[in-house]
Amino acid sequence: MAETKALSEPQKALLKLGLARDIDLALHIPLRYEDETRIVQLRDAREGDTVQIEATVTESQVQYRPRRQLVVTVDDGSDTCTLRFFSFYPSQQKALAPGARLRIRGELKGGFLGLQMVHPTYKAAGGELPDALTPVYSTVAGLPQPWLRKAVASGLARADLTETIPADAPPVPGNATRWSLRQALQFLHHPTPETPLAALEDRTHPAWLRLKAEELVAQQLSQVESRREHDALQAPALHPKPGGLHEQLLAALPFQLTGAQRRVSEEIARNMARGRPMHRLLQGDVGSGKTIVAALAAAIAIDAGWQCALMAPTEILAEQHFRKLIGWLEPLLAPRGQRVAWLTGSQRKKERGEMLQLVASGEAALVVGTHAVIQEQVQFKALALAVIDEQHRFGVAQRLALRGKMKESGGEPHLLMMSATPIPRTLAMSYYADLDVSTIDELPPGRTPVVTKLISDSRRDEVVERIRGQLAEGRQVYWVCPLIEESETLDLTNATETHAELSAALPGVLVGLLHSRMPVPEKKAVMSLFTGGQMGVLVSTTVIEVGVDVPNASLMVIEHAERFGLSQLHQLRGRVGRGAAASACVLLYSAGDSGRVGDTAKARLKAMAETSDGFEIARRDLEIRGPGEFLGARQSGAPLLRFADLTTDTALLEWAREVAPLMLDRHPTLAAQHVTRWLGGKSEYLKA
Ligand code: ADP
Ligand code: MG
Repeated sequence: MAETKALSEPQKALLKLGLARDIDLALHIPLRYEDETRIVQLRDAREGDTVQIEATVTESQVQYRPRRQLVVTVDDGSDTCTLRFFSFYPSQQKALAPGARLRIRGELKGGFLGLQMVHPTYKAAGGELPDALTPVYSTVAGLPQPWLRKAVASGLARADLTETIPADAPPVPGNATRWSLRQALQFLHHPTPETPLAALEDRTHPAWLRLKAEELVAQQLSQVESRREHDALQAPALHPKPGGLHEQLLAALPFQLTGAQRRVSEEIARNMARGRPMHRLLQGDVGSGKTIVAALAAAIAIDAGWQCALMAPTEILAEQHFRKLIGWLEPLLAPRGQRVAWLTGSQRKKERGEMLQLVASGEAALVVGTHAVIQEQVQFKALALAVIDEQHRFGVAQRLALRGKMKESGGEPHLLMMSATPIPRTLAMSYYADLDVSTIDELPPGRTPVVTKLISDSRRDEVVERIRGQLAEGRQVYWVCPLIEESETLDLTNATETHAELSAALPGVLVGLLHSRMPVPEKKAVMSLFTGGQMGVLVSTTVIEVGVDVPNASLMVIEHAERFGLSQLHQLRGRVGRGAAASACVLLYSAGDSGRVGDTAKARLKAMAETSDGFEIARRDLEIRGPGEFLGARQSGAPLLRFADLTTDTALLEWAREVAPLMLDRHPTLAAQHVTRWLGGKSEYLKA
């Protein structure tokens, strides 16, 4: 369809708001409503109310003090009210001349001079009163409210709103089934005056539930579709061999697997044996022992003659995360003539060339690294399994590239994504519905719970005293300074100053400094002093957020804890309590210039002090921050839920999960129609 006519300004603005189709307009639900259905008496109105009155102008004059303004007095028979206009045209002055009878609408203010309205809207009195509340839509510059109102009304009238939820679907919870989609939308745009505004505002009205149910179904449909597409692909069927690498690895471990580790390992093994690509998220709290689970999966793939790739978001994390894994597997691989290859960004050309050779020849059974693993020059001989640690830090594009890599070697990959940030259940059921999820819900034995303390920055001395105590017992200490995103320099200053302060306060103790700007070899040197035990205190910016495993560390101090996100704090706290020693986490907060800690920051700190359960933390984080933060790169560009709220709409979500597969199975045409209506062209994003 060739667009020959130039678009008017409001039309352009509509497109900017994403309101291109009739259905988009119909789904542009009002922000709020105004009640123009009634005329009130001034006598009955209260200060602060937005009211509509009909009154006669008794006086009208331009005053110059304190500034130029048109002051109009009106009388509605019950009381008088002063209208003030600080900018006005002569035509307005004429319309507001004494004797004029007007219908006036505005917010009533009280005060010394009696009732007042500033810049009210007005028109001639009389005329019909609307029989529904007037919608107020969110808009942008260049798109006047009345224009938008008309556009939405005609979009709503034209949009195809035939029912797509099939009649054999279970009823929508909350009495919403009695509403058709058309009725629900009609109502939400033009609610009847007696509608309780609270039910509209908190979105509990059945019309709202109906709308949210539809939205959730669209999301589920696209997820289930993506899962089914994925399921139809082929991948190597990998079976553990009796007496093979998998068993040898288990035998070589210095510990027994926990029940949870055994369970998820079996889930993964079954999944990889199916001949269809695994697409699985392995979640488990920090320290729950995900690495060995990944190693066992790798052992199965390698034993079946394939290669396994392990990726972490940064070089230091790749090294930290997989050091143990390599330590376990390398001695078992060596006698088989198999090697471990590293691929990172900071590698020298020569070394990199050698590594690429190992990967291409298949001699490297295990390929470990960062994004470098999925770069163009990397050619695998036979890649069957990719493990991505801290999956939320990888973007959609990177995951797609990874799948591409595996395709080069002749099939779809098995994908195991690991995350230490547990995804709240409702989120797993919605945005991650196309993934299988395995959860490690048990920590290895012998861990002591970490005691969390909130301490004001003004009591820093006590904290230093505490550090001395821990050091005297031969323990080690982390001190984390926040990342200030706008200013890496400031960030660094903060860490550097703390480093100097602690070095001075703790003579004879090696205090290290680790920050994100340091060259990788330097970082590695510092880390090895800390893991080796020679370094007593490690001051760092958040680079140690994940992955460091030093069981001897027993105290974690987090400076400016109020600046961290909840999940981030939880991850950091997980760095201690990894050994048997009683461990503590001190959250140092400072009130800052305003003299107070903000409410959400307070909620976060409180949550940290109250619970150490990763799932509970994740749930609260979802409540505090909404889903956007969790999804990170996963959803970049994809539509988030606009209407449904995952923290409150669980019943609707459960319902949608039941309905979506049923629609795809029995009513594929309706399903397709539904997805197009809701997601337009955006559904592809959801599938990466
Ligand atoms: P995460 O899930 O955070 O990646 P890790 O895999 O790094 O956790 O494991 C944390 C620590 O616990 C490591 O030192 C690991 O060797 C150890 N560990 C893992 N599983 C067990 C177990 N079943 N029993 C004892 N220690 C274990
Ligand atoms: Mg880990």
